Amino acid sequence: MKKVHNFNAGPCVLPQAAIDATIEALKDFNGTGMPVICVSHRSKEWDAVMDETRALWRELLDIPEDYEILFLGGGASTQFLMVAMNLLENKAAYLETGVWAKKALKEAKGIGNAVCVASSADKTYCYIPKDYEIPTDADYFHITTNNTIYGTEIKYDMDCPVNLVADMSSDIMSRPVDVRKYALIYGGAQKNVGPAGVTFVIVRKDVLGKVTRYLPTMLDYRTHIDGLSMFNTPPVFAIFVMKETLKWVKSLGGVKAMHKLNLEKAELLYNEIDRNPLFVGTAAREDRSIMNVCFVMAPGHEDLQDEFMAFAKERGMVGIKGHRSVGGFRASLYNACPKEDVQALVDCMQEFEKLHK
Ligand SMILES: *Cc1c(COP(=O)(O)O)cnc(C)c1O
Repeated sequence: MKKVHNFNAGPCVLPQAAIDATIEALKDFNGTGMPVICVSHRSKEWDAVMDETRALWRELLDIPEDYEILFLGGGASTQFLMVAMNLLENKAAYLETGVWAKKALKEAKGIGNAVCVASSADKTYCYIPKDYEIPTDADYFHITTNNTIYGTEIKYDMDCPVNLVADMSSDIMSRPVDVRKYALIYGGAQKNVGPAGVTFVIVRKDVLGKVTRYLPTMLDYRTHIDGLSMFNTPPVFAIFVMKETLKWVKSLGGVKAMHKLNLEKAELLYNEIDRNPLFVGTAAREDRSIMNVCFVMAPGHEDLQDEFMAFAKERGMVGIKGHRSVGGFRASLYNACPKEDVQALVDCMQEFEKLHK
């Protein structure tokens, strides 16, 4: 197989150990004589996968007993709607730090009274707003911890006077999280914990059941709590790969070890961006994401963009094109992205600099 350095934003790189275990399970799942995608989701062998996956989540993120962990379909985008339907009675507050946050707010507005407390749209979401007040009469305050497209991140667990809800699609499991600070955490698995097809939700049970609207069965979190995420057929393949991905996280020392490695990788690349006169970072320094690193050609060198893209491609770099709304470059350094790949990108940037001295 061709050797590449995969910096895709999602779906993206996954741990080789998880891929290998999945290939084995596609041949023979746990001695059943069947591929994992052909066993009944009502079998005891499958139940064991669900139990183990939940247990891994609980252990890795130290999720307290009064929180439930759900594995659903529909992606983070369906959670934009479900969060509002299940939690919004009088008022909801949103921090608009990117188009994902904006889309979440749009869905909430369709459900009830949702307000934007602050936005960084004025500067293409290149920073996290700091001066805002969270209305204390809100049912919840919604944040997007990592802004995948712009490379900004809220890197701490904030104190919030109301229920805190977080879209953690692209930084879940990248660092230890104090789950108790949040009422609900959700995200699509396909950035840092698995393949596309499964959505995780961590919810404190006492925030549910407070709204007066009719909740369609499939959009009511309580349906999936009662059904242990198997009210209907779960996305078995995606859940299996997620389990193997989390086993890999655990084998490396858990989220603390991941965080240390992620900080090292991000520092390596940001240092090069700051040092190399041909490139410049786009995110405000204090808000720089450790998962998605965004940069462009430095002023005066804009004409080299296509050339660098081709140069990097020749050297095996994949997925470094910035999101179409931002342009430039974006390297996603998720958990499974090895430090050697980041070094390869840094080497590539240095070679390119020499070429243009
Ligand atoms: C990718 C992404 C989404 C969208 O996820 P889907 O599972 O495709 O709906 C939402 N929020 C953030 C922060 C993302 O990175």
